[in-house]
Amino acid sequence: MKISLIAHDNKKPYIIHFALAYKAILEKHELYATGTTGQKISEATGLTVHRFQSGPLGGDQEIGARIAKNEMDMVIFFRDPLTAQPHEPDVSALIRLCDVYSIPLATNMGTAEILIRGLERGDFSWREIIHDRNLEVENEKGS
Ligand code: PGA
Repeated sequence: MKISLIAHDNKKPYIIHFALAYKAILEKHELYATGTTGQKISEATGLTVHRFQSGPLGGDQEIGARIAKNEMDMVIFFRDPLTAQPHEPDVSALIRLCDVYSIPLATNMGTAEILIRGLERGDFSWREIIHDRNLEVENEKGS
């Protein structure tokens, strides 16, 4: 599964704790992140993380584009609800796209833990069916 990890500045220590705590699960998946979050997670955990641009420089939009192309399976986004963000429209757009495409999204630690445990238990295997269906559609277009 392709998983995106994002944290606003005040929440970065929490996403690092989260990644350390669930490293054994996360390392079985393809990890993506906005620039600074990805750097901090890979430094702290040694996990391989594909890094997009920093959030305020377009990273959230890059993740949104992957969602629109059905190339992202889960988003863990530790938002800071108490601090104004210069890229608030991008944050809203990303959350909106998760809802448009029914992508599992956690915006805080409480939900993130449930998603990650569900991931380990196979609760998101329905995403594989969607991948296979998309492949069939692509093949039909090509033939
Ligand atoms: P960052 O971006 O990981 O580059 O700090 C996160 C965000 O603010 O959306």
